[in-house]
Amino acid sequence: MKKIIKNGTIATAADTYQADILIENEKIAMIGKDLPTEGAEIIDAKGAYIFPGGIDPHTHLDMPFGGTTTKDDYETGTIAAAYGGTTTIIDFCLTEKGVPLKKAIETWHEKANEKAAIDYGFHLMISEINDDVLAELPSIIDNEGISSFKVFMAYKNVFQADDATLYRTLLQAKELGALVMVHAENGDVIDYLTKQALAEGNTDPIYHALTRPPELEGEATGRAAILTEMANGQLYVVHVTCEDAVEKITEARNKGVDIWGETCPQYLVLDQSYLEKPHFEGSKYVWSPPLREKKNQEVLWNALKMGQLQTIGSDQCSFDFKGQKELGREDFTKIPNGGPTIEDRMSILFSEGVMKERITLNQFVDMTSTRAAKLFGLFPKKGTIAVGSDADIVIFDPKVERAISAETHHMAVDYNAFEGMEITGEPVSVLSRGQFVIKDKQFVGEAGKGQFLKRAKYNAALKPDTGKRLPV
Ligand SMILES: [Zn+2]
Repeated sequence: MKKIIKNGTIATAADTYQADILIENEKIAMIGKDLPTEGAEIIDAKGAYIFPGGIDPHTHLDMPFGGTTTKDDYETGTIAAAYGGTTTIIDFCLTEKGVPLKKAIETWHEKANEKAAIDYGFHLMISEINDDVLAELPSIIDNEGISSFKVFMAYKNVFQADDATLYRTLLQAKELGALVMVHAENGDVIDYLTKQALAEGNTDPIYHALTRPPELEGEATGRAAILTEMANGQLYVVHVTCEDAVEKITEARNKGVDIWGETCPQYLVLDQSYLEKPHFEGSKYVWSPPLREKKNQEVLWNALKMGQLQTIGSDQCSFDFKGQKELGREDFTKIPNGGPTIEDRMSILFSEGVMKERITLNQFVDMTSTRAAKLFGLFPKKGTIAVGSDADIVIFDPKVERAISAETHHMAVDYNAFEGMEITGEPVSVLSRGQFVIKDKQFVGEAGKGQFLKRAKYNAALKPDTGKRLPV
C-alpha cells in the first residue's frame, strides 16, 4: 500500500524544504512535487513539519535495579516513545560477570521480542575483560549486530568496572569497530561520600546530589578521555550534566580525540533544587549523575549549539513514586535511580531548544535522530528522510501548546518529572517503516511489530576535526 505525505515542510539535519513524500514497501520511494497519487493513501501534513523518526540512543526498559525493576517494559516504553515521535530506541543490555555475553543478549531479546512497538537495538554492558569475553566479542559485533559497549565508572560493587577494564575495552573496540560508551562518575569517591553522609545521619534525597558532586563527573570524563586518546579509540560519554564534564570533552575534541557527548532533557530543564522538594517528592528527581545547579543548563545548551555535545538521549529508567522510589524513604542510597523521559525527549528539545532559539531546527533533527544513526551504525537506513531510507517519519505540529502531565502521558509510571511544564509542539502522526504507529495522536500500532536492528560497525571516518573551533 502506497502512501503520500503532502503539503508538509521536511526538516532533516541539513535542510528545511517543502516537498511531498511517497512511501512504498516500508521505504521512502520518492521525494518531490506532484508525485503520482494513483492508488496511494494521501496524508495531508499542511502546517506540519516532517522529521525523520527520533532515535533514542539511551533507554532502560524492563531493567532490574536495586532490588526492583523499571516500571516501563518494552511494550509501554516503546508505545510512549512512539507518542513522543521516537521510532527507534537503543536499549542497554546488562551483563553479569562470569555469564556468557550471549546469554545476556538472549535475555534482552526475550524482554523485547513480542512487546516492542518500534524498532530497537541493544548496547552491551562490559564489566570484565578476560579470555572468554575476548573470544566472544567479535561475534557480538559481526553476528549479533551489537556495535557499542557500555562501561560504568560508577556504581561501585554493582556495575562499576576498573580503569584497566575500560582501557582494554577501548582497545578491543578500536580493533573490532565498536563505539565505547561510558557512564563517567568517580564511583570510588562517591562510595566513600555516600557512606560518610549516611554515617552522619544525612538520609534525604538531596544527599544523593551532594555526594556526587560535578567535580567527580568532570574527573571521570577527563580520565576516560585520556584513556581513549592512549588507546587511539572512540568514546561516547552518556548523560553529560555539567560544565566540568563539557570542558573535558571539548578539550579532548580540540586535540582530535574521537569523543562524543550526550545530554538528556532533564539536565536541560530541571536542576538540583528539585531534590529538596518536601514529602519525599525529591526522590522523583534522583538520577545518576544527579541534577545540577541551574547555571549548568546554559552551559549544556551552548555545548549543544556549538557541537561539543551532539546527541539527546532520554536515559528512560522509570520507577513509580509509590512502592519503588519509596524504597529509599529512610536512606537516599536505596532510591532507585532514574526517571520517565522517553515520551517527552523530542518535544522538550523542540520547545525549549528550537522555539527558544537556542538551537536550529536542523540541529534539533541532528541531535534527536541523525547523529545517533550515524554513531550507532544505523545510517542511512534510519535517521534521515531520503530515498531508500526506512519510512520512519514524524508529522509534527509546531504550534500546539500543551502542558506535560502524568494524567495524559502514556508511560506506565505514576508521575511525570516534567509535570505542569508548558511546551509548544507535538507529534500528530508517526510512521514506523511506512505503517502508522500514531495516527492523529492515537496509538494504532501493535506490540511486537518492532524489529531488532543489527547495526553496522562504528564508522571511524566520523572522528572530529583537529584544531580549535572558532566561535559561531
Ligand atoms: Zn542510563
